[in-house]
Amino acid sequence: MTDAINFIDSIPSFAFTWTTFFIAVIILFLLRYRERLVAFSIKDALRTCIPFDPVRSQSFHTDLKVYLIRKLTDFIFLIPGIYVLFWVSNGLFSTLSGLDGTPSSHENSPALVLGVACVLIVAAEFNAFLWHYLEHKVPFLWELHKVHHSADHLNPLTNHRAHSIVQIGKYVMKGFIAGIPTGLIMYFYGFGFIELLAIAAIANKLLTVATLDALRHSHVPLRFGLLEGVFISPHMHQIHHSSLEAHWDKNFGTNLSIFDWMFGTAYRPHKGEVMVNGIYGYSPEQLQAFHSLRGTYWDPLVRSFECLKRSLKPVSKTALGFDAKIEGAKNDKAIW
Ligand SMILES: [Zn+2]
Ligand SMILES: [Zn+2]
Repeated sequence: MTDAINFIDSIPSFAFTWTTFFIAVIILFLLRYRERLVAFSIKDALRTCIPFDPVRSQSFHTDLKVYLIRKLTDFIFLIPGIYVLFWVSNGLFSTLSGLDGTPSSHENSPALVLGVACVLIVAAEFNAFLWHYLEHKVPFLWELHKVHHSADHLNPLTNHRAHSIVQIGKYVMKGFIAGIPTGLIMYFYGFGFIELLAIAAIANKLLTVATLDALRHSHVPLRFGLLEGVFISPHMHQIHHSSLEAHWDKNFGTNLSIFDWMFGTAYRPHKGEVMVNGIYGYSPEQLQAFHSLRGTYWDPLVRSFECLKRSLKPVSKTALGFDAKIEGAKNDKAIW
């Protein structure tokens, strides 16, 4: 079992992603051929497997550029979050050690490691759900998150189509949320901080592989049936990208759907449910403005800063009456 986990962990994530994607799109082609929806030809196979023009699509070019930039720079944006995680967990560990003396130590049995992995996964998934919810509801975060929703077509690279600066907030919040169980596990079970980081990373990788993360940003509408009560299926996340009003603000979870069910944002699509990629209220022409590095990085940052400035500005008594109504109508999705 341990060997199998180590073997899976040694395979790079992109290998899983692209292998899963191509196996799935070939199966999709064969199914459509069986239903006589496509012909058995190279042209139809290509159209089914990659339903956009990777050479001419500006949206795909932007996905690719953002992916490469994030691969090279993400570690910088993760540093504050790791520091907060260490600060919170170590602070809790030291406080408990000071109050109660020697920390506990246990034999690291497979059952204990599995239990620890489950706790860390639930904490990370709750953070991802909450952060994603805030990205949709807080106007200055929404300006940055629009980048992810502006893709014309979903493909595995779209998973990384997000403003780099957002990673700071997401991982700092994760430091506070996951720091508490991490500190408690360190104290009560004698695990080291680095050891827990490794367990969390391997558990997250296994979960993303098991829930077919590679297909979430794809045109393969795979559903999980009753398992959608616990896990986010690819079709559930595709619905999250739909600009249709019925689909908006649904399915915020990453791998687990439990928090969507708890907080009333879960949406299970039915077979063949139609969706339209994009942002609610934006025309395809307006989305073109996002398909460049300036439209992905600089413009959203400026709009986000303007939004933040507006929300921090003191509001005059007269503005409270008239302007607030206008702002309310404009930002009817906002909680701030
Ligand atoms: Zn979103
Ligand atoms: Zn997405």
